[in-house]
Amino acid sequence: MKKTIMQRCGAFIAALLAAAALFTACSKKTTEYVIATDTTFAPFEFQDANRQYVGIDIDLLAAIAADQKIAYRLEPLGFSAAVAALESNQADGVIAGMSITTERQKKYDFSTPYYDSGVVMAIRADNETIKDYSGLAGLNVAVKTGTEGATFAESIQAQYNFNLKYFEESPYMYEEVKAGGSVACFEDYPVMAYGITQGNGLKMVTGMEKGSSYGFAVLKGKNTPLLDAFNKGLANLRANGTYQRILDKYTKTN
Ligand code: GLN
Repeated sequence: MKKTIMQRCGAFIAALLAAAALFTACSKKTTEYVIATDTTFAPFEFQDANRQYVGIDIDLLAAIAADQKIAYRLEPLGFSAAVAALESNQADGVIAGMSITTERQKKYDFSTPYYDSGVVMAIRADNETIKDYSGLAGLNVAVKTGTEGATFAESIQAQYNFNLKYFEESPYMYEEVKAGGSVACFEDYPVMAYGITQGNGLKMVTGMEKGSSYGFAVLKGKNTPLLDAFNKGLANLRANGTYQRILDKYTKTN
């Protein structure tokens, strides 16, 4: 029996609806991971002239996600806020120049290390009086909440007898030292070295303290597929040269 136009149309529409339903079902299955990061921690994460987030962490994450076909949403929250978001399940992972420490490994699973770092003291560029930690006695020292730099400063505070002032973001810490509210700050070496080349007005007079390498973090025992994908992607980027290209892009300045 011949079908009427209406019947044909009906069948066509039904097929369309089924396809649409299938499409939504499938696209819903693609997990969009929430990845928390710091706000300003150049050259790892910072905003370019167009207010777009760029940097070693941001580019690595993007390249790994493309390699592993992962969808994600970037949340630049600040360092301690990013870690708090991870702990409260509001973020699936953190990439924020986050140091892999034994203390943190009790709570988080880290990727394979992707960048070696350490902590360094910085003072105002025109300060000629501070030569080492003993010069800090009785003075204020700026640190960033929840960081390895803060932990290091806390570990030598009693010995060198200084006061600690806490800041949520690296640039606030630098401003504090420039304005003279604190005589020094403790920051990750690669970040301070980069900042100095960008004219942040500070200088280093002591060597880098031994520190930990950076890793991508998830909550312990959670989001293992995400962590595995990160590690696989990172290995692929190291093998195909993309990892080195990203590092060079941000560290080989002029
Ligand atoms: N590497 C340091 C830490 O993990 C600082 C990270 C940051 O300030 N984004 O504590």
